[in-house]
Amino acid sequence: MLSIVPVNDIPKGLDCDISSQESLDYLAFLGCQLIQLAMDNKYALGVAAVQCGIPLKAFVARSQSPYCIEEKLYGIGQHLDTYSMYVNCEYSRLNSDKNVDSIEGCLSLPGKTYKVKRYPTIHLRGKLIGPSIETGEIIAMEVDMAVDNPYDSIVIQHEIQHQQGLLISDVGELYIRSL
Ligand SMILES: [Zn+2]
Repeated sequence: MLSIVPVNDIPKGLDCDISSQESLDYLAFLGCQLIQLAMDNKYALGVAAVQCGIPLKAFVARSQSPYCIEEKLYGIGQHLDTYSMYVNCEYSRLNSDKNVDSIEGCLSLPGKTYKVKRYPTIHLRGKLIGPSIETGEIIAMEVDMAVDNPYDSIVIQHEIQHQQGLLISDVGELYIRSL
């Protein structure tokens, strides 16, 4: 069982090895554990491996977009119609639209919310991990795409920043709701 480590123990994420079937199977297993952890925490929108002390560029995120079920890839486990496992991902701003204010929480910073400036849309590059629809084997599927809705875009930016060692307390300001 994975658990969230203290903020000071969060490592940086390194590239995941995806060169062998054994590595891919491990990443799928890690994905299932991260999904379980997210579900156990009120269906958190996402959780990164580094938050559990695992120094890998790997995270799961809930998605509203159809790309989480591609024609080549099943979700991992029963709940991957909502969660996907992303590895070795990076993002860049997609267009010149104004940044949006996002109010976010984080499993590593329980009980607090922060206001963070986010790109409304991003270009995402990396891999999705899951069982192939054709063979059932775990595969890494290339992702090189526009994420053009703010919901998915914001969750992915939050998780990728975890891999870079950045928390919302580093990039945002503490947000206290007025009564
Ligand atoms: Zn977080």
